[in-house]
Amino acid sequence: MTTAQREQQLIDELRDICQKHHKVVLASSLGVEDMLLTHVIAKEKLPVGIFTLDTGRLPEATHRLLSRVVEQYQLHIKVYFPEAQDVEQLIEQQGTNGFYHSIEARKSCCKVRKVLPLARALKGQQAWLTGLRREQSMTRQQLEKSLWDSDHGLVKYNPLLDWSQEEVWQYVREHHVPYNALHDQGYPSIGCEPCTRAVAEGESERSGRWWWEHPETKECGLHIAQ
Ligand code: SF4
Repeated sequence: MTTAQREQQLIDELRDICQKHHKVVLASSLGVEDMLLTHVIAKEKLPVGIFTLDTGRLPEATHRLLSRVVEQYQLHIKVYFPEAQDVEQLIEQQGTNGFYHSIEARKSCCKVRKVLPLARALKGQQAWLTGLRREQSMTRQQLEKSLWDSDHGLVKYNPLLDWSQEEVWQYVREHHVPYNALHDQGYPSIGCEPCTRAVAEGESERSGRWWWEHPETKECGLHIAQ
């Protein structure tokens, strides 16, 4: 399939989703897949709200990208932060970088900084979009293109599920879509600064996230129930 055909298929799918639901949001991590979706939503003027989660531990490159995207596309991107008192309590319990000490501590941090803010962001919505792709990791192999998200009470769509990494980058380059500068420094997947690192040639896309854990535990709780 050509990039143009891929794009048309995606536009049709997104239009279909917007016809089925009145309140649709894109949960953007500002990763390259979400930038592709943002570009298409802006270009086609689709009625999709966009939000992102600022965990308080993001790299500066991600903040720079957010600022650029808002300016370039003239979009409103709502930013959700963790509750201050939850973060204070977390730091009291496990220290500033306690997430390195155990999977439980890491999940507690992800819960406060990502999972709870996500729940607030999705409240009252009817459908949410993600940029998840099946080939990103072993935890994403069994995903469906659309599913009922019982945790949040709405439909979840993964419109890029079958796109390859090459197809995403081809589209982004052809359409001059802005992306995080860290992608050019060996980071295929970008999250919080202390939990993300560059990967070597040939390593899996998500191997730079929580690299001290086993592959089957490496989700933050945004996409897999804890
Ligand atoms: S990715 Fe790391 S710093 Fe970010 S919320 Fe999860 S454990 Fe905390």
